[in-house]
Amino acid sequence: MTFQCRSCSGVNFAPVIDLGDTPLANALIETGAKGRPEPRYPLRVVFCRDCSLVQITETVPPDVLFSHYVYFSSFSDTAVASAKSIAQRLMQERKLGPQSLVMEAASNDGYLLRHYRDLGVPVLGVEPAANIAEVAEKNGVRTRCAFFGRDEGEKLAAEGFRCDVFHANNVLAHVADLNGFVAGLKAVLKPDGVASIEVPYLGELLDKLEFDTVYHEHLCYFSASALDRLFARHDLLLADVEHLPIHGGSLRIFITHSGGARTAALEALLKRERERGLTEAAAYADFEARVSALGKKLVALLKDLKGQGKSIAAYGASAKGATLLNFFGIGGDFLDFVADRSTVKQGKLTPGTHLPILPPESLMERKPDYVLLLTWNFAEEILAQQKTYRDAGGKFIIPVPDARIV
Ligand SMILES: [Zn+2]
Repeated sequence: MTFQCRSCSGVNFAPVIDLGDTPLANALIETGAKGRPEPRYPLRVVFCRDCSLVQITETVPPDVLFSHYVYFSSFSDTAVASAKSIAQRLMQERKLGPQSLVMEAASNDGYLLRHYRDLGVPVLGVEPAANIAEVAEKNGVRTRCAFFGRDEGEKLAAEGFRCDVFHANNVLAHVADLNGFVAGLKAVLKPDGVASIEVPYLGELLDKLEFDTVYHEHLCYFSASALDRLFARHDLLLADVEHLPIHGGSLRIFITHSGGARTAALEALLKRERERGLTEAAAYADFEARVSALGKKLVALLKDLKGQGKSIAAYGASAKGATLLNFFGIGGDFLDFVADRSTVKQGKLTPGTHLPILPPESLMERKPDYVLLLTWNFAEEILAQQKTYRDAGGKFIIPVPDARIV
């Protein structure tokens, strides 16, 4: 069957980057299972010439993909702080109170909704992972275990759950049925309600060579122009936008029912995107070559360090780390282990490259000379946490947008 655009169902694509057949980026391997074959899936990014949506062509079935899902956003200090500030702001701006309802799709362990709950506003989370939904309930955040989409949205609306504020942070890119998700939003949003949706921004992916944010969980890479067309199809309005530094550069977009006005900030961003050609295939033509050049440079740096007899580890057994290591072919020849703060990941092996994952304390115990920072999106936070290691002479290598030592 011909692949159809996830937004407009068109079939006119231009290639952006082909990362080859790769194992699932979050499919960490139990040490006992080492040597068993790992399933691989094509990872190819394309641009839709009809609606400008950048997307991957392979949809790995959610039950395969999310059975490995081990990311709890509460593990990141940056994400927790950002959640608190948006909750406090929307509380005031929308004058929320005990009569209001705030909903979140993919609400995780309740890291965002708990801030509203603490301020006395009723909340409802919708979270597909049963184990994570359970944690949220234990934390006192009302949570329903379901995939948010057209069916769930219509069901909620029929049960009387319509919201003043709807959040969806870093979930839209994971949704295979984009139009179903937006239809569900349309169903649950009160007439004067607002949705605040955060997505990693395509502009930065291109500018800062953030190719490692590409993995099978991330089906789409959004520009404001592509989002505008997606929501308009459902009679919703992309009304406002803010730019956030989180996750290497993100957009926080505000969606309302149609009929309102757009802000100047949004008009300006749409104009900038047209001017820089994000709505045309030509803007994407040299991306793969630029990424390959970066890979050559990084591998040369690691080879040089190994040649000097230096030991190297990595930090952050993240999905983006898996993409980077697998695409650049950086494995056990260069790296001794990967340190990670998540206790769920420790003791397992990285997908494809099979590096052991150890607790962060191992940096001080084993004192590698260099650490390749795979979770560069939290560079500031991690460099601060690893002050002792750095004070003892340890150095970090930040791989994108340009391999550099700090
Ligand atoms: Zn399209």
